[in-house]
Amino acid sequence: MIGALNKQIIHFIKSQFPGQDSIPLHAPVFKGNEKNYLNDALDSTYVSSVGEYVNRFEIMMAQQTDSNYAVALVNGTNALHIAMLVCGVERGNEVLTQALTFIATANAIAYIGADPVFIDVDSDTAGMSPTALEIFLIGNAEKRNDGFSYNKRTGKKISACIPMHTFGLPGRIDEVKVICDHWNIVLIEDAAESLGSYYKGKHTGNFGKVGVFSFNGNKTITCGGGGALITNDENLAKRAKHLTTQAKVPHKWEFVHDEIGYNYRMPNLNAALACAQLEQLSRFVQNKRELAAIYHQYFDSINQPFLSDITDAKSNYWLNALIFKNIESRNSFLEESNNNGVMTRPVWQLMNRLPMFKKAERGALTNSEWIADRLVNIPSSVRDR
Ligand SMILES: *Cc1c(COP(=O)(O)O)cnc(C)c1O
Repeated sequence: MIGALNKQIIHFIKSQFPGQDSIPLHAPVFKGNEKNYLNDALDSTYVSSVGEYVNRFEIMMAQQTDSNYAVALVNGTNALHIAMLVCGVERGNEVLTQALTFIATANAIAYIGADPVFIDVDSDTAGMSPTALEIFLIGNAEKRNDGFSYNKRTGKKISACIPMHTFGLPGRIDEVKVICDHWNIVLIEDAAESLGSYYKGKHTGNFGKVGVFSFNGNKTITCGGGGALITNDENLAKRAKHLTTQAKVPHKWEFVHDEIGYNYRMPNLNAALACAQLEQLSRFVQNKRELAAIYHQYFDSINQPFLSDITDAKSNYWLNALIFKNIESRNSFLEESNNNGVMTRPVWQLMNRLPMFKKAERGALTNSEWIADRLVNIPSSVRDR
């Protein structure tokens, strides 16, 4: 019985990508100005971190996300690192995030020397649950005279909260923000997967103090490797730019650096590619939303749960996701699809189950555990016809 249903689903996915023997989860498409801009960057001889495309990309990113400032960086992981630095997260602090996220979120917290605290997700968005966040804080945190919140058990300051918009689906970020504001915890959005996704008419990444994006090869748009942070705070943007260019103080010839900085600025070659890709974002998202709608209709017709937007959310549908009955049916689908030329993947292992983060503080993770046993991502590339 299960085998027959798996075959039917695999057949349907294949019918959406005709003529492909092996269907990847997410392949990039380079059919815009990519080659023109790359050649232009080469001709200019500005291939590294100074160049017109880097500035142009920052202006385009700010426009795209309706934010005041964007800073282009080497990848999304270091964008998270810098976001925390400019928001004042310090060694020995705690940072609230999801157990259900890509490793980069937790790693970036560790780069600071801070400790991640894992909060549950909602089962319909796979993004941070405002309810779980509030329960954790009421049970474990206290606001002290300095105006900040501390974990009562560990005595550590809880300085930031980093929810993640999983697979491009916007989480209940406005409710998360209200809670963070109440406890005086800085909100940083890991919007690495949600470029082109909106919640209540506002671009993801633009709800908190800083939002972070990735342009890795498997993301909705890519520049090989790349990242960006966005903010509406001019001082934060300036500081992010300073820190990511080795904290060099402008001078005609002297090498003056006024603090420990990082070589995190996006090179002009990557930015050339990024500009060409960003020009096509709305077309890509429209194309991906069409595929998601086709999937949604089909999976509804066979009573197969499929993750889709909650009210007021408009996802980029970076990766479409199915929810199976249990881990056995999940595994049998993973096995059959991958054996038959359809690439599928389970969700990441929960952060609290990895050796580095086993001892981390956490709330109840009921929904995260439920999703981890059941979710499978299916092919979601832009279909370029
Ligand atoms: C891709 C991704 C990142 C990091 O991106 P890189 O550019 O690969 O460093 C961070 N967080 C999440 C949730 C991601 O999916």
